[in-house]
Amino acid sequence: MRRQVAALAVVLALAGCGSGGPDPARSPAALPSSAAQATPAGAAGTGFQPGAPGAGDPYFSTYGNGGYDVASYQLKVRYDPAANQLTGTATIKATATANLSRFNLDLAGLTVQSVTVDGMAATSVRDKSELVITPARGLARGKSFTVTIAYGGQPGPINPAQVTGGFLRSGDGAVAIGEPESASAWFPVNDHPSDKATYTIEVTVPEGVSALSNGVLAGRSTSGGWTTWRWAEKAPMASYLVLLAIGDYRVTTGEHDGKPVVTAVAASLPAGGSAERALARTTEITDFLATKFGPYPFDAYGGIVIDDERVSYALETQTRPVYGPDFFDGAVDPSWVVAHELAHQWYGDSVSVRQWRDIWLNEGFATYAEWLWDEHQGGPSVAQSFDLAYRRSNDAIWRVSAGDPGSGNLLSRAVYQRGAMTLQALRMTVGDDTFFRILKTWAAEKRGGNGDTGEFIALAERLSGKSLRSLFDAWLYKRSQPPLPS
Ligand SMILES: [Zn+2]
Repeated sequence: MRRQVAALAVVLALAGCGSGGPDPARSPAALPSSAAQATPAGAAGTGFQPGAPGAGDPYFSTYGNGGYDVASYQLKVRYDPAANQLTGTATIKATATANLSRFNLDLAGLTVQSVTVDGMAATSVRDKSELVITPARGLARGKSFTVTIAYGGQPGPINPAQVTGGFLRSGDGAVAIGEPESASAWFPVNDHPSDKATYTIEVTVPEGVSALSNGVLAGRSTSGGWTTWRWAEKAPMASYLVLLAIGDYRVTTGEHDGKPVVTAVAASLPAGGSAERALARTTEITDFLATKFGPYPFDAYGGIVIDDERVSYALETQTRPVYGPDFFDGAVDPSWVVAHELAHQWYGDSVSVRQWRDIWLNEGFATYAEWLWDEHQGGPSVAQSFDLAYRRSNDAIWRVSAGDPGSGNLLSRAVYQRGAMTLQALRMTVGDDTFFRILKTWAAEKRGGNGDTGEFIALAERLSGKSLRSLFDAWLYKRSQPPLPS
């Protein structure tokens, strides 16, 4: 994610899950007492326990869920922009990682009509943004199972008090984006980056309206005044990187290196303007970044500029970042933000955080990519950008630990600036060749998976042959400005 420059110092108001706010779901406010107990599960016998209502993230206890691992989501949704009415079916294939008597999915608002597990009717209750599903039979550890959920209603922001993330309705359509969570605003999901999965996303909208999402456009068909757009993302994807943009867009398609390129600009923005010119550089910038980070990790390219003033940020939605309109209305060349979001395709999307605490592995790297891009374009060198960041940094950013910023500072300036400075300090310590070998190896070894700071440090030590704990400690964690590396 990248905020507009002027807003960088503003801490993003997180769209917190389970932090209150009206829950429009017509569902029980609390679980029946029987559901709170471990249920002996059919013939499976004892030892079957409820899955945890969170994935164990120390920053966001209710995000995601425990006890299973999702392999794929098949989403079929129909959205009527005029009525803000969504109906959907989610088919989720998963594997139990514990003996489960029941398990949770995350779903903010909306109403569940029916749930089956392996074709058999299952019971479900709602507890705020948790959807608690009890299958007819317990799910033994290691068992693959398929959950099918029919649902619908009027989707909205995840936290109605902070309309920056979730499902945001606009004049002619809607956009579903947001970090650290957004997916649960429009489909039932294990909403945490530690459980990545593949997706097929079918979106049916009125004929003439565009429905854009991640990955490859696998088909499009129209019937009875409605058009269905079929998208497929075969690489594992974290749920906050799932994109939905519906509305009147100028869509451009092409091909690069044998892979499809789909870019789109809201039709309400000036044709042929700054937004289109910046998006047209998507593959050029990706190719440049590939020289630094290794091969581009996905099967499709793209980007979408939306026209929604509530979105004053850009987000690295997988294969196709979304950019708010503010980046393209000034005199400044906006290609820096394209470089930032495209760098996330390696760091954030292909290699994802396992816990939100490690967010610098996304934002520090993407900020560093801005410096690389500036240098490539004949602007300040990376060393100059580092120097400026170091000299201009104030106490505030050194008081926040970039390696453990706390949930309230997740997307704060310290994470971006200290994160990028940490990488330059590493480069100054290990040398250029080893530094870029570390970046490429991190992307290659963790491709499609998750990583954490400890693993990154271990890799840097392995490839450099140096002890680097104190360097990372000073630049990432300590609450004071470190001296320049000698
Ligand atoms: Zn970012």
